[in-house]
Amino acid sequence: MVSDFFTLFYPRICASCAGNLSLNEDFICVSCQFKLPKTQYSITKDNALCKLFWGRTNIETAAAYYYFNNGSKVQHLIHQLKYKGQKELGFYLGEKYGQELILSPLFKSINVIIPIPLHPQKLKKRGYNQSEYFAKGLSKSMQKQVNTQSLIRLKESSTQTKKTRYERWENVENIFSIWHAKSLKNKHVLLVDDVITTGATIEAATNTLLQIEGVKISIASIAFAEKV
Ligand SMILES: [Zn+2]
Repeated sequence: MVSDFFTLFYPRICASCAGNLSLNEDFICVSCQFKLPKTQYSITKDNALCKLFWGRTNIETAAAYYYFNNGSKVQHLIHQLKYKGQKELGFYLGEKYGQELILSPLFKSINVIIPIPLHPQKLKKRGYNQSEYFAKGLSKSMQKQVNTQSLIRLKESSTQTKKTRYERWENVENIFSIWHAKSLKNKHVLLVDDVITTGATIEAATNTLLQIEGVKISIASIAFAEKV
């Protein structure tokens, strides 16, 4: 009765392959859980995502749950999360990935989790910040608080992919600001995003946060589009 009730509101369909979920499956079917391309970056020092930021900004480490490819099941998953209202999927993925991150010595010293904020106008339009739901899931598994107050988004950056490196830099310059910097002093921040492609948004947010005394930054995302 209860499960029938929920089925009315949440179709029991895999967010990755759109196949039917069995009663013991949530959000992603067992077959997809097994097949989705995990990066293993949480236990890999100097992985490709870390290298993306070399010479651009100063991070401790970086990890992404999955590889992102156009037309892939991971893209379908992200689409459900961002554009189909499946915010709980973000929490679910965060909870799963957090269970991996707490096992990694690279993420042991994290103090606080900060999701990349959306611009207030975009937040109003979408109704939720998908990265915040991912952060909340990570928070549950890692037992670290989420801070959504300190990193402020001043403007929305336009799409990055067709821009040159300089244009991308110009596009994200001064898009973030800090509020109540004191609470982050000497903290190791886990900065969280949904998909990392060029890394320009993360780079801008990291450089903003690094203005706070003693702050260290590590990165976690749901997916990483390695070659764009
Ligand atoms: Zn599936």
